[in-house]
Amino acid sequence: MLTGHFDTVEIGSYGDLEPIARDPDRLLVELAATLAREPLDLRNALAIDDFKSGDFIPGRGLLDMKAGLAAALAVMEQAARSAERVGNLLFVAVPDEEANSAGARRVAEVLRVIAQDHKLSIEAAINLDAIADDGDGSQGQVVALGSVGKLLPSAFVVGQPVHASYSLQGISSAALAGAIAASIEWLPALTPRRGTEVGPAPTLLGMRDNKTTYDVTTPSSVWMYWNVALYRPGARELLETIAGAVQTAADALGAELSARRLALMSGVGEVARAEVITYDELRLESGLNGDRLDALAVELDRAGHDVPEQCRRLTEFVWQASGRQGPAIVLGFASTPYPPVGLGEDPAAQRLAAAVQVAIASVSAAGGTPIGTVRFFPGISDMSFLGQAEVDDMPAIAANTPAWPNMRWPENGGIAGIPIVNAGPWGRDYHTRLERAHRRYTFDVLPVLVREIAIRVLSD
Ligand SMILES: [Zn+2]
Repeated sequence: MLTGHFDTVEIGSYGDLEPIARDPDRLLVELAATLAREPLDLRNALAIDDFKSGDFIPGRGLLDMKAGLAAALAVMEQAARSAERVGNLLFVAVPDEEANSAGARRVAEVLRVIAQDHKLSIEAAINLDAIADDGDGSQGQVVALGSVGKLLPSAFVVGQPVHASYSLQGISSAALAGAIAASIEWLPALTPRRGTEVGPAPTLLGMRDNKTTYDVTTPSSVWMYWNVALYRPGARELLETIAGAVQTAADALGAELSARRLALMSGVGEVARAEVITYDELRLESGLNGDRLDALAVELDRAGHDVPEQCRRLTEFVWQASGRQGPAIVLGFASTPYPPVGLGEDPAAQRLAAAVQVAIASVSAAGGTPIGTVRFFPGISDMSFLGQAEVDDMPAIAANTPAWPNMRWPENGGIAGIPIVNAGPWGRDYHTRLERAHRRYTFDVLPVLVREIAIRVLSD
């Protein structure tokens, strides 16, 4: 199975060049001219050099992720013409990878039926996602034998709201959230590592208080969530690590604020300690009926709120029902989980691993293009649903994801379990106006590589 997503991200970031964001030849000329007029920073300078060299071609979706699909179609075309038949190729292009992977998740559910209908046995899959490399391509010209997983841990930070003129009498949830944000950013304990491979470091993806209009009351709550990557399942450990870091940050801020307040006002004690709990604990404590919460989740989905916002509103609802007082921090998860994926020990997976090694050796030698392997595709990808993902921690994730009913996660069959690797194009700056693919690797090398892997699997 050759697969990849066909959705791409917005084109607003192209500014005046938006109308030609998907027209690579015109964009190449116009973007180079635009960059020449702008102040020169490192990113722009690299792009200018890349465009001058002729080695790179720009365009929204060119790298992420149409070029991978094009390579697969080239392989299909060639296979259709070939007299030699060693098996079948199934091409599956899916939507929504950039948001919630609805396409790949649906494929994971129905693939067994499709295979039965067509009398196919799906032996292996090649995902075609792009890889970023700011250097010479040695990081980008790789086949990934697995993919990082991704979770979106969240914190609902509750303070003690007060009139701003009497700020010493309360605790601003915003100040607390600021301390927490700084404590989690790039935290090594939340950065997956294995040997020399270092995965994506945690980063804050969103943060907002619950005020809808301006007034002089300190915000009662702040909602924040982070992108956190994983090499192996471990949602519970991840929540524990975050709880530890968050408690330390909250306590340090509490101590600092206590000292400042004492310096300004004598005879006052320490500020209240912020308690850290999980959503699951809070929900049990609230005594709220699960069906009622599920119905509320569905209602919020119908109203068109995105998943993190659904989770924020549900957490706020449960918090209010709990009768607790701030300061406190409620930890949970706020989006679709992407399980980490690797090749299994089974014969099919080992055959794919062997096919990759033989294919990269022959393609590297023939084209003078060194191709390597990495254990984990660093981007978030559909491999999480199609591959041999480990999902031991799914119950812990489900229990702490307020909007879980809206994930539509099939009890069995959420994961297709096919041996999968990623072989895709490489380039730079995807999701920005500088998105560009390395021309030769993308159009000349990749189709040969994908074909070689497929043929080795099928003829073994
Ligand atoms: Zn993307």
